[in-house]
Amino acid sequence: MTSGIAVLGGTFDPVHYGHLRSAVAVRDALLAKEVRMIPSLSPPHRDPPESSADHRVAMLKAAVEDEPGIVVDDRELYRDGPSYTVDTLRSLRSEVGTDTTIYFVMGADAFCTLDQWYRWQEIIEQAHIVVLKRPGFLLGIPDEMQSWMNDKTVVSGASPSDSPHGNVIFLELEQVPVSSTLVRRAIHQGSSTEEMLPAAVIQYIRCNSLYEQGFSNAER
Ligand code: ATP
Repeated sequence: MTSGIAVLGGTFDPVHYGHLRSAVAVRDALLAKEVRMIPSLSPPHRDPPESSADHRVAMLKAAVEDEPGIVVDDRELYRDGPSYTVDTLRSLRSEVGTDTTIYFVMGADAFCTLDQWYRWQEIIEQAHIVVLKRPGFLLGIPDEMQSWMNDKTVVSGASPSDSPHGNVIFLELEQVPVSSTLVRRAIHQGSSTEEMLPAAVIQYIRCNSLYEQGFSNAER
């Protein structure tokens, strides 16, 4: 039996095996009927992406083409202003109804700074928050968030949920040691990216001459 929709947000500039293996692991662990990869247009907390939204969506589509249950959802790209997660989840909730379980998936590092996000306490009114944690790594959760968590149901490991939102779920996953920054750097330096991302994405990057220019000083 499968249920629920998992949401993985990011800039995906470009998508890589770290994103893709997390999506598959989350789908399988939570028995989610769908994992939605939602690229952001203008993330509030970081520099703008190097590639256009159209390119990032095209690379995502090429990457998930043969992966059952993993789909690209471009709703943030057609909204004005910053991409706030709470708005995205509200929009998804209004589409799928109140009974469908939604899992909002985030890395442990991002979770530890969640209290800086716009209307962060309202996120859990729309979805469960799933925190991907590396085995053996401790979390540095700030005090304000710790007291917020005290009246939440906190679950370790995947277990069937009886509510469509409201829990904090910790999942332990081995991380693939890759990031989009490393991919961009490798392309800029002319190094191989074969172990970092699928062949279809490498092909797309080559055909469109992406990431060959415009490396920021911060990434050097
Ligand atoms: P950049 O290097 O440009 O900052 P990134 O590789 O971190 O990019 P994002 O698109 O910013 O990728 O991240 C989207 C989501 O994917 C985040 O929740 C992030 O924690 C997660 N993620 C990124 N890299 C990995 C990885 N190697 N393994 C598991 N999750 C990852």
